[in-house]
Amino acid sequence: MSEMGTPLSIHIEELSGRTGSMEVAVLQLNVQERRKRAAKAAGISWGLAFVTLFFPIVHFVLVPLFLIGGFVIFYILYRRDRIYLERAYSCPKCAAPIVFLSRSEVSWPHEEICPKCRTMLRLMPISQARS
Ligand SMILES: [Zn+2]
Repeated sequence: MSEMGTPLSIHIEELSGRTGSMEVAVLQLNVQERRKRAAKAAGISWGLAFVTLFFPIVHFVLVPLFLIGGFVIFYILYRRDRIYLERAYSCPKCAAPIVFLSRSEVSWPHEEICPKCRTMLRLMPISQARS
């Protein structure tokens, strides 16, 4: 995944009405990329199931847990079709830099607290229309 992603304009507002904006890059994952990503995570879980096989007693719990966990992780990751890339922006109130962390799921409006002035910020895509 070396591409830059599609820009998504975000509107930022805080309680007293000050607003700001930023752009988050969104990577759209195709079926192959989703499968690869999900398989990698499931593989780690199944690898852990194998490793814990050699630990007495706890293996009764951990082996089935990691085996089932692998399928659950695969299912969850396979369904996620986009990645929001990490982006720095500034607080509309105090201008402190805040990092929007890379993540694959965001429920809009997304709320974040400014680490400096503790103001609750509400982030929302300017155009909610999606294909
Ligand atoms: Zn702030």
